[in-house]
Amino acid sequence: MAPAPDGASALALGIDLGGTKIAAGVVDASGRILGRGHRLTQPQEGWEAVVDRMVAAGEEALAQAGVTAEALAGVGIGSPGPVNPETGVVVEAANLFFKNVPLAEAVAARFDRPTYLDHDARVAALGEYRFGAGQGATHLVFVTVSTGIGAGIIVKGRPHQGAHFAAGELGHTVVMPNGPRCTCGLNGCLEAVASGTAIAKLAREAMARGEAPILAQLAGHDPERVDARLVAEGVRRGDPACRQVLDQATFYLGLALAGVINLIDCDRIVLGGGVAKMGELLFEPVRRTVAASVVATGRQVPIVPAALGSDAGILGAASLALAPLTPGS
Ligand SMILES: [Zn+2]
Repeated sequence: MAPAPDGASALALGIDLGGTKIAAGVVDASGRILGRGHRLTQPQEGWEAVVDRMVAAGEEALAQAGVTAEALAGVGIGSPGPVNPETGVVVEAANLFFKNVPLAEAVAARFDRPTYLDHDARVAALGEYRFGAGQGATHLVFVTVSTGIGAGIIVKGRPHQGAHFAAGELGHTVVMPNGPRCTCGLNGCLEAVASGTAIAKLAREAMARGEAPILAQLAGHDPERVDARLVAEGVRRGDPACRQVLDQATFYLGLALAGVINLIDCDRIVLGGGVAKMGELLFEPVRRTVAASVVATGRQVPIVPAALGSDAGILGAASLALAPLTPGS
């Protein structure tokens, strides 16, 4: 293999594997995305076909960046999980129909570069830590509030994976023992009261009971059109049921985050995902609940919006393959 040209070893390919889309990017050490590639995942065609499309998206990104795979320090992949980062195997990913898929090895064979794999929530956290709203934190917790709720924990630059690679399942903390049913089978998980899906569902139910007149108007009386964004609009316009649903969601999210701070003693929490785009409507009550419920130590833990949007996945995946940042640098 020809030696990499000067400075080229500071490039990495990040691949963000999702249930519907694959996004790839060639990333330099400062977090610039020099080229991008996209494919649909189409997981029903089997995992080998998904690998083909991940490679195609990666090749597209390389071509756009004007480099070949030899110029890469490595390839990083963020995948739904649980995954085992040590073996590079996706243990199980229901939405991809994956079971014990040797994903890192399969991709490494195609690009002939060192290839790393981690769980998508931890990968996105790593992206925000290195290039986004988590920069400068030593103990960062990144919480995504979208269709579900997941967390990634970064301690001194390294993703905290847990003894069984399952750290970060914040969404399945039971906060309301008699609360709404969760997709995991339990009742009252945080995800079942505070995710975007849950906010929309609870508001839809209130609308069906005739308790959300303003929301009903905004949605043209069509329950299909109710999503978390529309519920936020209902709150701004004074809809009582939307207010109640959002108050409940932000209260329990705040309680859960206070627990996270008590346990981890993090110095920053970054909130991302579609629901976090509500802005102060979400952040203000969450911060208020956290301040009222966290154990008093005199510390102030900033709770701030994510900065990278959907690029956190590509940038974090690439970070797996870039030289680690020295803590404090
Ligand atoms: Zn659950």
